[in-house]
Amino acid sequence: MREYCIKGIAVHEFGHGLGFVHEQNRFDAPGECQQLKQGTNGDLVLTPYDPRSVMNYCNPKYNNDGMLSTLDIAAVREAYGGPPGKPVGE
Ligand SMILES: [Zn+2]
Repeated sequence: MREYCIKGIAVHEFGHGLGFVHEQNRFDAPGECQQLKQGTNGDLVLTPYDPRSVMNYCNPKYNNDGMLSTLDIAAVREAYGGPPGKPVGE
């Protein structure tokens, strides 16, 4: 349980370190998720709303079990680029 929590929190906090804010703060988050707003709001939307994001308190899995969602990966690639030799989006 301890390792699970450390991994989940680390992935979430690295997300903040990269400049990502909480997914539930988005204007298009479901109303019940917006009730969980915390921290600052972003000013750039890179992907559709992501209920599975590691940055979403409304995710039924705590920090998505420490695993980036498909849209988390897409957002990181959009912001920072993909792996060398691969265009963004692959
Ligand atoms: Zn956070």
